[in-house]
Amino acid sequence: MDKGLVIKNTGSWYVVKTDDGALVECKIKGNFRLKGIRSTNPIAVGDRVCIVPNAEGTAFITEIEDRKNYIIRRASNLSKQSHIIAANVDACMLVVTVNYPETSTTFIDRFLASAEAYRVPVNLVFNKVDLYSEDELRYLDGLVNLYTHIGYPCYRISAANGEGVDALKEDLQGKITLFSGHSGVGKSTLINYLLPDQQLKTGEISSVHNKGMHTTTFSEMYPLGENGYIIDTPGIKGFGTFDMKDEEVGHYFKEIFEFSARCKYGNCTHRHEPGCAVREAVENHYISQSRYNSYLNILEDKEEGKYRSAF
Ligand code: GDP
Ligand code: ZN
Repeated sequence: MDKGLVIKNTGSWYVVKTDDGALVECKIKGNFRLKGIRSTNPIAVGDRVCIVPNAEGTAFITEIEDRKNYIIRRASNLSKQSHIIAANVDACMLVVTVNYPETSTTFIDRFLASAEAYRVPVNLVFNKVDLYSEDELRYLDGLVNLYTHIGYPCYRISAANGEGVDALKEDLQGKITLFSGHSGVGKSTLINYLLPDQQLKTGEISSVHNKGMHTTTFSEMYPLGENGYIIDTPGIKGFGTFDMKDEEVGHYFKEIFEFSARCKYGNCTHRHEPGCAVREAVENHYISQSRYNSYLNILEDKEEGKYRSAF
């Protein structure tokens, strides 16, 4: 029996890198099921597993180690089925651009809230700064200020000319990092810059995968430096909003959570309740209006019973 790390998931088989450095093609044995998780695909990249070689020269995955976290994606609005995108993720890089394509703060905040729920630290990567006008750069300054202050590190980069990428690369050492972002923001260009030997296809990659069989389950980790890995999930723009109770949504907005300790009511939703310290903080500009609006936006969607993907 060997132990190793799952570095590729095709939907029907896996590649495990053993602790000796060998790459082994693996399948799941028979009725392997994970406690508490209904998943079409119970094992994900980032999982540490035990494997047992079989007669065909491949191996069976027989055991999976406890995860520190995992990111799930629901198959559809109505479905309870979900699959795991990645496990044991140390950090997430959300790649966005101000206007190429345009990114709303609502989108960013939904992503951040979901990541908090998954207990995955997020860095915001503002790409294509080579294209920004002075107005856009000023707007970017505001965003960087806002999010850095809340506790989300921000990078301003150009994947096209390499500006700012070295600092980001430094931050990836020794970690498993998941890259997310809307299509067109330059995620593949950035990963190619970081991994010159790998060369993902830019532009067409998502469309190729959308036509493929394993769109929703395919994912792969690429080694970076010593013990670092980058996870790319082609065809997946990100993960969906976590199932949260109304009173929990505020837990996933760090600064709202901080102020909520001073609300008059313990189960305050920070909308209409008297003595709400969060609304007061918004009025006094300690909490940004855009963050508070994103918070309300998630609550409203929940009220309407909508499940909206964060992406
Ligand atoms: P993905 O869909 O997020 O993987 O985006 P791609 O990496 O395919 O990039 C989409 C387009 O943006 C391509 O035409 C890239 O050449 C371009 N692009 C990516 N990064 C930058 C950048 O930093 N600056 C500029 N000007 N263009 C970029
Ligand atoms: Zn309140």
